[in-house]
Amino acid sequence: TENILEVSNLSKVFTSRPGPFSPKRDVRAVDGVSFDVKRGETLAIVGESGCGKSTLSRLVLGLLEATEGEVLFNGRDVRKARGKALRRFREQAQLIFQDPFASLNPRMTVGQIIGEPIWLKGELTAQERRVRVRQLLARVGLRPDHLDRYPHEFSGGQRQRIGIARAIAGSPELVIGDEPVSALDVSVQAQIINLLEELKQDMGLTFIIVAHDLVVVRHMSDRVAVMYLGRIVEIAPVEDLYSQPLHPYTRSLLDAVPVSTPAARRGRSAESDDLPDAGAIPTGCRFHPRCAFAQARCRTDDPSLSPAMDGGRQVACHFWEEIATSHPIALPPAE
Ligand code: SF4
Ligand code: MG
Repeated sequence: TENILEVSNLSKVFTSRPGPFSPKRDVRAVDGVSFDVKRGETLAIVGESGCGKSTLSRLVLGLLEATEGEVLFNGRDVRKARGKALRRFREQAQLIFQDPFASLNPRMTVGQIIGEPIWLKGELTAQERRVRVRQLLARVGLRPDHLDRYPHEFSGGQRQRIGIARAIAGSPELVIGDEPVSALDVSVQAQIINLLEELKQDMGLTFIIVAHDLVVVRHMSDRVAVMYLGRIVEIAPVEDLYSQPLHPYTRSLLDAVPVSTPAARRGRSAESDDLPDAGAIPTGCRFHPRCAFAQARCRTDDPSLSPAMDGGRQVACHFWEEIATSHPIALPPAE
């Protein structure tokens, strides 16, 4: 099939333990999310901290158990995979972690870290594995003779290259990067993004890139899904989304309109103190407390993600059409 991944109505509820001052409560970190990923495309999933994007990527990879919903990988239900089918899926779908300092085992050599997925496959001898690891090190731009070194001997950017080498070691089909460059120096970010692009071309990979802002993903994605409080609120081909964002939240991410928040009204930055709380999802449209275009209906009526415009766009807003007409936007063209 054309789709490598089909996600339907996926949800994850975490139940927090009660504390002395807080009752037990359910947190719907991911709340009924559906999307497809076409073979060979790069889909970006963008949203603020706490929107559920990391949880979503772990649900897709089966690293977290979903509360409900379905994940089809090459037409097969990942949640029902066991034994050999599960091992095969684990090889074919890989994660690149956000923090290259925390995600590499400090007691393993680079050769062991990168060689582990190959060893698990059990097809190569120890000697062949070393040859393969050296090839992988060269492929990600590191010195092949550094395979007996430990992670602490490398810089952040180099460690992320090691993480990437490990992710591609078993020749996966799908790679999910969970904010793969956000922990790195700005000067290094572009190098890592270029490396990911090269690998994608060379290996015919399908990518999901999770990010907290739209700038990083613009040049590397084909489509973008914008998440807010556990939901996808807009999904569109990348240039459509940047030239004409339809959802008010997407507009706010692109600085096309101000976001109405108590903090903004007090004249302070709205960044940190208004992070959405997945344990207290507003009624109706969950974006309504921050939406500059909210109307009475938005407080009671939960908009579903529905087709909008053409080209396969979808948006979850009752008034996107009205807003597009009454508040057309002119964003600066891409550099
Ligand atoms: Fe804003 Fe209403 Fe649209 Fe939600 S449904 S984004 S509150 S206009
Ligand atoms: Mg995260």
